[in-house]
Amino acid sequence: MIYADNAATTKMSDAAIETMTRLMKETFGNPSSLYSIGQTAKEVLEQAREDVAAVIGAQPREIIFTSGGSEADNQAILSAAVLGARNGKKHIVSTAFEHHAVLHTLEKLEKDGFEITLLDVHENGIVRPEEVRDAIREDTCLVTIMYANNEIGTIQPIREIGAICREKKVLFHTDAVQAIGHIPVNVEDDNIDMLSSSAHKFHGPKCVGFLYVKKGIWSENLINGGAQERGKRAGTENVPGIAAMATALKEAADNLQKNTEKLTAARNKLIAGLKAIPHSAINGDEHNRLPGNVNFCFEGIEGESLLLLLDDKGIEASSGSACTSGSLDPSHVLLAIGRVHDVAHGSLRLSIGETITDEDCDYIIKSVGEVVEYLRGFSPIWRDLVSGKKQFIL
Ligand SMILES: *Cc1c(COP(=O)(O)O)cnc(C)c1O
Repeated sequence: MIYADNAATTKMSDAAIETMTRLMKETFGNPSSLYSIGQTAKEVLEQAREDVAAVIGAQPREIIFTSGGSEADNQAILSAAVLGARNGKKHIVSTAFEHHAVLHTLEKLEKDGFEITLLDVHENGIVRPEEVRDAIREDTCLVTIMYANNEIGTIQPIREIGAICREKKVLFHTDAVQAIGHIPVNVEDDNIDMLSSSAHKFHGPKCVGFLYVKKGIWSENLINGGAQERGKRAGTENVPGIAAMATALKEAADNLQKNTEKLTAARNKLIAGLKAIPHSAINGDEHNRLPGNVNFCFEGIEGESLLLLLDDKGIEASSGSACTSGSLDPSHVLLAIGRVHDVAHGSLRLSIGETITDEDCDYIIKSVGEVVEYLRGFSPIWRDLVSGKKQFIL
């Protein structure tokens, strides 16, 4: 089996599993308790905070542990909105291809009287910094733009966008769930005010993540209760999960260069191989993308059938994000880069992991080619394209 859906979730690393199970057995205390086992748990928690902060160039006190990326996105955006509304600023700038954790939060704010500008991400899937500058108004309280897209993997010019936001004195949040642990991110160098991350995207456990909030920026609670996380996120901390996240993140950071080289080579090989399939096209910029992301459209087929047949061949992939699969609507990300419905339906996302081999790549290329050809064999759309009744787009 070749697991190629790491953008949906990753397998936990052995080291992260070891940390998590050890702490579950040995360090079950409540970090808010004063006796020894509680204090030991507190020490583990604070060590994890230091470790996580160090990887992204933050201070430990700037890290709020959350239940994952979605919660971190919600907290960041709602914090900026509450702050903005107090100052009469109710305009937010974002993009059309954000994760639903961001888009649905913005839709909710729109119903509450906020104005949302969603920037174009163009054909290459990359936001243009000058368009961010042009979109910022007197009443803009937040710019929220993802670091790297979860479907097409394109990496955004975050440092430039951050610099513009600093200059314009507007808060800048980035959903860095796909970036953290996969490409270098530094909140200081990148001019980031708030950043979301999730452990299960970098070989940590599910339902753990963190929100970075730059010192001096106020944040609103989503979960009210006890005084955990400096009063910013109530609830007894998931100590084993948080520590396992720190283990996984340190591991990812230590191996970043090695993994990047390996994944980039495999990705480029896959891209070259899939490009050779007639009437196919890569989605998003070919080079400025995550090391492990390959995303293609194949004209005349349905992505869902492609996935099922690949599954039969032992290849686990996706047609878009886990959130859109199961619905018949084409991916909002592919529509945002200008793919028409028919073409967007025939998409394939391979998000490969560090264990991929050269033989795996060969097998994937061969299998995708075979399945695409097979499906086209009885596709009415393909028949119309070949007979000239319909025009090829790709
Ligand atoms: C997976 C993902 C999320 C959601 O994170 P969860 O921890 O699953 O809530 C948010 N944004 C992006 C870009 C993602 O890939």
